[in-house]
Amino acid sequence: MSSILIKNGIIVTMDQQHSIERADLIINDAHITDIGGTGQAADTVIDADGCAVIPGFVQTHLHLCQTIFRGAADDLALIDWLKQRVWPMEAAHTVASVAASARLGIAELIKGGTTCALTMETVNHTGEVFKVVAETGFRATVGKCMMDKGAEVPPALQEQTAESIAASIALLDEWHGKADGRIRYCFAPRFAISCTRELLEKVGELARARGVMVHTHASENRIECELVQEETGLRNIAYLDSVGLTGRHVALAHCVHLTVDEIETLKTTGTNVVHCPSSNLKLSSGIAPVAKLLEEGISVSLGADGAACNNRLDMFTEMRTAALLQKVLHGPEVLPARRVLSMATIDGAKALGLEEEIGSIEVGKRADLSVVRLDRLHTTPAGDVVSALVYSAEADDVDTVIIDGQVLMRDRKLLTINESETIASARLEAQRLAAELRG
Ligand SMILES: [Zn+2]
Repeated sequence: MSSILIKNGIIVTMDQQHSIERADLIINDAHITDIGGTGQAADTVIDADGCAVIPGFVQTHLHLCQTIFRGAADDLALIDWLKQRVWPMEAAHTVASVAASARLGIAELIKGGTTCALTMETVNHTGEVFKVVAETGFRATVGKCMMDKGAEVPPALQEQTAESIAASIALLDEWHGKADGRIRYCFAPRFAISCTRELLEKVGELARARGVMVHTHASENRIECELVQEETGLRNIAYLDSVGLTGRHVALAHCVHLTVDEIETLKTTGTNVVHCPSSNLKLSSGIAPVAKLLEEGISVSLGADGAACNNRLDMFTEMRTAALLQKVLHGPEVLPARRVLSMATIDGAKALGLEEEIGSIEVGKRADLSVVRLDRLHTTPAGDVVSALVYSAEADDVDTVIIDGQVLMRDRKLLTINESETIASARLEAQRLAAELRG
């Protein structure tokens, strides 16, 4: 049994009391076992003086396989971005390039205080992502991308319906619940226009039968919404509802363009929305009606989306941008810092169905947390800790990260990932992909 004492920190619990207190925190093996006790001994002692101790960030929309596409697909709108850049690069992925991309992404996430992610991968080689999650100590719900329809899709990404489902089930059987529950599977149809109705209906049935999540993109872009309407006669959310892809186990990335009826459907079905503000701005997709969704009681959590469109995987950027965007639309009182920090932590955990285990600092929960320095120039004075975290802090301020009771970063040094090798192999694989695409 290993124990960790984090002492002298300001603990931001994000539990129902939302308390902030200067206290010691004790971790035994994977779990938080005491908050506030003093004088306890531990195998590892971390001094958090001048720091906030916060729940690890939960990012509910990412593509780890796209991390090595960073900077290779800038300044395009969604459909061109997909067809001209992202799909050809995904099609050129190899086992080695997917692994390098996932390791680069996870390293960046840990360094920025993200401890859990929901990630949609590409059509091929998703097993490599699971292996990297397992070996780095990260926590993730991972889905193989499903695409059995669509024009201009490179041959390597074109699937038959049955084959796509069989490959997904094989990954689910191999990985769901592994690494003491750190690893989970989700079905991940790319979006309505790249999947047949048959596939979406089957995914709806299987996800319920197997008790796993469904993660897809929805209503990100106006042209996407028009295409769905032309093909199905329905608005995007109504169509997803009609094929069984709404509910508490479903997380829809983006939801930028919604009608009143679609918002009602999201509400009555308990479907989770994932807001990706930087991605929506950079691809010029629009601004999601987050204030309205929250007012209706709809679950909204945050994600960076992929490095191919963001280009950061940084929750501090997403928190700040999410808050600023709603303020410019609805006034400065909307989306206060505390609400945004909830979206980045406990609300993300709820969207993944993991709120009993992670997302807040409470005795009995798994120890997924980070220690964030608040004694630097740009965070001083940090009188209001939550304000400092949401509006002033940066990824570089994260000093220590713990997932499932394992210290994965200390004094900004990654302990399960070799940072320089990760950068070198990501660079090499990115060059290889670029060379292949040039022919
Ligand atoms: Zn995405």
